[in-house]
Amino acid sequence: MKTIERLESEVRSYCRSFPAVFEIGKGSFLYDSKGKQYVDFFSGAGALNYGSNNDRMKEKLIEYIQSDGIMHGLDMATTAKQQLLEQFDSVILRPRNMSYKVQFPGPTGTNSVESALKLARKITQRHKILCFTNAFHGMTLGSLAISGNTVKRDGAGLVLTHSLCMPYCGYFGEEVNTLDYVDRFLRDDGSGVDLPAAAVVETIQAEGGVNVADFEWLRGLEELCRKYNMLLILDEIQTGCGRTGPFFSFEPAGISPDLICLSKSISGYGLPMALTLMKPELDQWKPGEHNGTFRGNNMAFVTATEALSYWETDEFQRETERKGRKMRTFLEGLAAQYPETVAGVRGRGMIQGIQFQPEMLASEIAMEGFRRGLIVETSGSDSSVLKLLPALTIGDRELEAGFEIISEAVSHVMDEEMSSATR
Ligand code: PLP
Repeated sequence: MKTIERLESEVRSYCRSFPAVFEIGKGSFLYDSKGKQYVDFFSGAGALNYGSNNDRMKEKLIEYIQSDGIMHGLDMATTAKQQLLEQFDSVILRPRNMSYKVQFPGPTGTNSVESALKLARKITQRHKILCFTNAFHGMTLGSLAISGNTVKRDGAGLVLTHSLCMPYCGYFGEEVNTLDYVDRFLRDDGSGVDLPAAAVVETIQAEGGVNVADFEWLRGLEELCRKYNMLLILDEIQTGCGRTGPFFSFEPAGISPDLICLSKSISGYGLPMALTLMKPELDQWKPGEHNGTFRGNNMAFVTATEALSYWETDEFQRETERKGRKMRTFLEGLAAQYPETVAGVRGRGMIQGIQFQPEMLASEIAMEGFRRGLIVETSGSDSSVLKLLPALTIGDRELEAGFEIISEAVSHVMDEEMSSATR
């Protein structure tokens, strides 16, 4: 750790929250250089939905490397890419009756978001993007302009423009439908608000505090998009690839986004890869208009093809939903045990959050959990939410082991609070 502290930039972040030198990852466990085991409730911020070093993908990857398969391909045609596209079409798109073209925008989530914003602006010839409070879409300038977090925005070093931030579902409490508010601005010629090219939304704001948009609100947003000729961009970077149960988190809402951003767990193995899906009529790019050197990570294509085989039946989704209910029951139990300090439990499938008050309790619990062998992150602009994000492939025993550490950490932190209050 000393070498990292000496040489790596001050910008480093997760190694501060989890101060250990990690060496090995297997399934839902990480091991540090001293051999200490950690239950992984973080999953590479959603990039490891299938666990660490998944055997099925590892085997395909080793086979591919040993056969001297293409490693780097820009966007040249390769057998690995062809197989991935065929698999994605037959396992994901066609069974869902979805017709989309696939763009390889560059390896990270923010690359996908930037490509979607660019395309929406090009098609509509409008420049504003409607985004929502507490959203997070990435750290490049276009994505930052549509993200809410002040600390992250401040890092931009210039004025972030061409976005229009509106209240997300539930921002003013359950009684207020925030879309009425948005609609009022958009329809009023005197509001001073230009019509946006697109609305970009997460079904659950994972980084923003595990805020869940209800399905009716999402349908309402789609209607607004149609009413004002805005494109609907779904950021599925953290919620996609089965995190909430179905492959796409928006499926149960019955909506049909114009553009879909995917990354994180699409490669399945933690290898960098992103996709931007667009309805065929929106594929108005000119050849090479959005290029990039690292759009052809063929190793990621190989593991992604294998990852998608989890979706050949509905068993994987059902299991995720079952384990998601188990997580929810556990968190609701904690909330009942500590009614004064738990402000809420929310999530869907295997992304579940528990909010604490005062807010610093969540970070203290995460740190205590870490000492006891658990990797779990906080989320929200005030870091008040403990966000549980285990691998979808986690076994029941490992899941319960993580719950036990959380219970112990909460109880420890509460005892400390009590004793410092009476001191
Ligand atoms: N969008 C969402 C919803 C995210 O959660 C993230 C990352 O956490 C991003 C975009 C940005 O992805 P990346 O960090 O790969 O650029």
